[in-house]
Amino acid sequence: MRLLNKGPVPAILAGNEVAWTNALVATVANGQKPTEAMIGRYRHPEIKGALLSETAGKCAYCESKVRHIAYGDIEHVVPKSKVPTKAYAWDNLTIACDVCNTNKGDHYTADPASSQDNLIDPYVDRPNDHFLFLREVVCPRPDSLRGKMTESVIKLTRSELLERRRERMDFVDGLVRAYTLAPPEFQTMLLRDLYENHLADVDEYAGVSAAYIEHLQSKGVLPIAA
Ligand SMILES: [Zn+2]
Repeated sequence: MRLLNKGPVPAILAGNEVAWTNALVATVANGQKPTEAMIGRYRHPEIKGALLSETAGKCAYCESKVRHIAYGDIEHVVPKSKVPTKAYAWDNLTIACDVCNTNKGDHYTADPASSQDNLIDPYVDRPNDHFLFLREVVCPRPDSLRGKMTESVIKLTRSELLERRRERMDFVDGLVRAYTLAPPEFQTMLLRDLYENHLADVDEYAGVSAAYIEHLQSKGVLPIAA
């Protein structure tokens, strides 16, 4: 997980959010069941394209590249089933992989007193305040009850993710080893390649990789800058 920035509201949503929301809320208030077409208006290609752009095509929670194996689900940070007025709210939409999306389900608490039950919002909360990134292991900080709740619901340490992140960190280790063993005249080039081409937003598990690199820097294995 890494901190995400919300992009500009797509024109299709800016022009229709109020009408779409009013129609959905009125339908529910009348005791009618909204049609799939009505509920799914947030799946407009312009909206999904903007969300894939701001998440770099990755799951907002686990940082897996969703487009490699699936279409990628549009995720409601606050479940639309619990708060229909946020079904088309731009700041409530993101991208999640099938597994995180399913694990999260409709988890939600409207009680401010239960704020410890609120999951980490990657657009609002700094993941480092709630999780420890220990190479491929991502575990909740013992001083963050919300981090613990997020882990228990979304399961960021599930075995498939651990395996994928371990492979990624093994790859980073290979680059670090190449830098360490290289003749001095090649080291700057190799270091720049590592820092500029493998820790970018588009890279899978870049948040985890960046934390691992910081750890190696703190141990003197790598210099701070290329
Ligand atoms: Zn995910």
